[in-house]
Amino acid sequence: MARLGSARLGFIVIIAAEFASASRALYPGGDRFAGLASIVLSPFSAIRACVALSRGLMALDHPVAVASAMCSDETFLVVARRFYFDADRKDERGDIEIFLRSIGRLDDVLQPPRPETVEMRSFCPRCHSQYLKSNGDCVDCQDVAVQPLSARPT
Ligand SMILES: [Zn+2]
Repeated sequence: MARLGSARLGFIVIIAAEFASASRALYPGGDRFAGLASIVLSPFSAIRACVALSRGLMALDHPVAVASAMCSDETFLVVARRFYFDADRKDERGDIEIFLRSIGRLDDVLQPPRPETVEMRSFCPRCHSQYLKSNGDCVDCQDVAVQPLSARPT
């Protein structure tokens, strides 16, 4: 039992030292006391020390920019489409379009999907669901009109 306690204490000391070092490098002048106290007092906080460190790194970046750096290509396109088409309601579409153009991905985001079957006539530009109907709104996305599968979304 004493060995288990010593091993636990050893791991906590190592994690706390690594946390302090990484925190000093990532957030110069930042407050480390709360994070260190949390690691020392709770094994669950020690396990999640990397999450605590990385949380602030991307807090100020737009989710599309973070997705472009962190996600697989498929996931990035899903995230970018959702933010691009939702941005119409938030007046952010222009900024997202500039970003996507700068990384050369705007055409990928706006490109229609390949038809799942020859009967498919339309798709949702936001979620890429495909429909047999020629017009109307997407069932899953609020106020998003379906587009012909041959058309590029506007
Ligand atoms: Zn949709």
